[in-house]
Amino acid sequence: MGQSMVAITEESCTGCDLCISHCPFEALLPLAENPKQRKHAKRPVIVVENNCVGCLSCIGSCPTDALYEIIIPQNAIQSILINPTEPQQTEPVNRWKKGGLGVA
Ligand code: SF4
Ligand code: SF4
Repeated sequence: MGQSMVAITEESCTGCDLCISHCPFEALLPLAENPKQRKHAKRPVIVVENNCVGCLSCIGSCPTDALYEIIIPQNAIQSILINPTEPQQTEPVNRWKKGGLGVA
């Protein structure tokens, strides 16, 4: 059996942040800045690859179906889990302090 993780279709992500509290591993975080020429006014959420364990708890939480599963075969030579892309600057999210998002 291979491993899996999730990815986000950026064009479909409105930045509503609904998925963030569905990830127990804090792998879903908002980008610090909205990329230029993006069609949505709000910045997207991204997957922090090093934090995603592929539990798929988040997968049904997106109202625009922007989240999707990536299957990684066990014997994959090129894997995003082994070679994550460059880390991106994200916004801090209060999950656990007073008034935080908590877990969905
Ligand atoms: S729930 Fe979907 S649209 Fe909302 S921030 Fe998450 S990925 Fe983006
Ligand atoms: S698959 Fe699990 S660990 Fe990865 S982003 Fe979704 S909820 Fe978080």
